Amino acid sequence: MGGGAVRSAPPRRLLIGRSHVVDSGVSKRQTRQREAIFEVLRDAAGPLSVPEVLSRAQERLPGLGTATVYRTLKLLQEDGRVRALTLDGESRFESAGRGHHHHFACRECGGVFDLDLCPVALPSGTVYPGGFVVEAHEVTLYGRCPGCVAKA
Ligand SMILES: [Zn+2]
Ligand SMILES: [Zn+2]
Repeated sequence: MGGGAVRSAPPRRLLIGRSHVVDSGVSKRQTRQREAIFEVLRDAAGPLSVPEVLSRAQERLPGLGTATVYRTLKLLQEDGRVRALTLDGESRFESAGRGHHHHFACRECGGVFDLDLCPVALPSGTVYPGGFVVEAHEVTLYGRCPGCVAKA
């Protein structure tokens, strides 16, 4: 479990715990779904869209549906294990705790990849001209991924 913010997750768990189905097959199935979806995100080369999560998780959980993926992603976010981001208007998800990184979006295949090398020379605390104190930054690079370059 990632530490950090404890928000509205505990009340939800309390409700589930009281609903006398704690050890039922439903609960075990949900746990399996949650772990499978988390592992898909943890092992991915970059943040994934919902359709990407769905197709990868279906390799392990045939019959998995989109609604379950959405619900599970929400739970994983509440647990602090998964982070949501928006790239070009599309929601994507990545496992939390990946450290400072940026994303590379391939214009050819649509894939999004993590980049560990930070291209921005403005660390937190930098005073930008005009008196703006920098606390964070977001950068997305666009281009062609190695796979698409190799195909050209
Ligand atoms: Zn590509
Ligand atoms: Zn950076």
